[in-house]
Amino acid sequence: MTIQYTDLLTIGAGGGAYPAAFRLARAGRSVVMVDPKGVMSGNCLYEGCVPSKAIRETAEIYQSQRRFAERGLPGTITVDFAKIMAHKDSIQSRRYQQHAADLAATPNIQMIQGKARFITPHEVAVDTADGERRFQCAQVIIASGSDVFIPPVPGSEFCLTSHDLYKPDPALKILPERMIVIGGGYIGLETATFFAALGTRVTLLQRGGQLLNGMDPGMVALLTPLLDPSIHILTGIDVTAVEVTPEGGRRVHYTHGEENDTIDGDVVLMAVGRRPVIPAGAAEIGITVTRKGVAVGPDLRTAHPHIYACGDVNGRVPLFHAAVRQSMVAAHNILGGNIPMDYADFRHIPTTIFTLPAAAYVGITPALAEAQGIPLQIGRYDFEEDSRAQILERMEGGIQLFFAADSLRLLGGWVVGIDAGALIGQIGTAAAHGLTAYDLARFADQHPMSAEGIGKAARSLF
Ligand code: ADP
Repeated sequence: MTIQYTDLLTIGAGGGAYPAAFRLARAGRSVVMVDPKGVMSGNCLYEGCVPSKAIRETAEIYQSQRRFAERGLPGTITVDFAKIMAHKDSIQSRRYQQHAADLAATPNIQMIQGKARFITPHEVAVDTADGERRFQCAQVIIASGSDVFIPPVPGSEFCLTSHDLYKPDPALKILPERMIVIGGGYIGLETATFFAALGTRVTLLQRGGQLLNGMDPGMVALLTPLLDPSIHILTGIDVTAVEVTPEGGRRVHYTHGEENDTIDGDVVLMAVGRRPVIPAGAAEIGITVTRKGVAVGPDLRTAHPHIYACGDVNGRVPLFHAAVRQSMVAAHNILGGNIPMDYADFRHIPTTIFTLPAAAYVGITPALAEAQGIPLQIGRYDFEEDSRAQILERMEGGIQLFFAADSLRLLGGWVVGIDAGALIGQIGTAAAHGLTAYDLARFADQHPMSAEGIGKAARSLF
């Protein structure tokens, strides 16, 4: 068998892989990207961020229409689910075309449709439809991402997953009347709010007591009462089985304390988490793999200095933009001869829960500050007083900024309500670059945009 040499091979072609692949190709290195999808962008574009947000934004338009209609403004538009899904599909195919053009325009990169596995630390086999290919690799980036976790519940095969819902040409063709969502993490909760806004009766079953487990309870407590009240949320639930009813619907069996009960729906979404995807042979060649994923430091190197692991696969911050930054860190360190010259800052990565309304946070928030004994000063701004929120009829929520009590240096923040995803980026930039409440208070942010609330939250301290 012939073994082809490459300077870099990436296992996966998502956010953890392709920024480094392009950077190194531009520097004249030979690059092979391997992905079973045969296209770039990984699960983010295939079944994650982009398609789910395409549905979210249309669902929000329907929600806004209803709010305005209550004030006698333009009448309510009827929901056309097929068109919403077609809109989602068209954005996915548009972005795939864009990525294919980028790839075609870049010399030195080869994309191979297949699945990679380690033979030795420097040799990778790729299983393709036309058989196996072998590569001798100077460098490897493991960026095999994560996958939906399916718990060992009998009948789980009768549930949809986020993959079924958001992939191109999705499994769900008509808007269900009743949806049961198992799991109150960000994927379950986001999807529950989208479908509720489109008119589906949603019941959400959550195992623990708190929705968005692991996130700051203070932020979750602000968000929860703002969610569509038609969403029926049951907490402390253990799902024991799912079955198909004689009418072709779904019945979910669960326990709640001592009680056993069932609930019926037309579809069930299983959203209880994601797990890292570890390429075959990784552990055998001496890569350290824990329950969270491939172990790496902030330089993204694994136990082998020439093998990096970026993105969801290392379980550090499983978000696309975090993967992109990690990929660039790996590229810089490869260009530096595997002697670290760049490090990922895992503390200032903005996270948005794209529910309707959204919640977003970055850096140190009060629960973490309390756990670490960091005294805070809190700057607040309510959207109730915000001109843009009033114009949009979305006055719920607000901004909170968390400053070190002594220096007034911005440590973190959260936003619940309008423009949360955009505002948290601005707050994150400020926190990552060491700005203080004085800096934020002096900056003349735009009126009438929600960002002026950041300066006002800072000025609330003086
Ligand atoms: P990230 O954002 O962390 O890069 P993604 O989930 O977006 O993660 O992308 C990971 C990609 O890796 C997916 O497209 C997946 O199909 C691919 N992948 C998973 N396992 C392998 C493997 N053994 N060989 C090649 N590609 C893989």
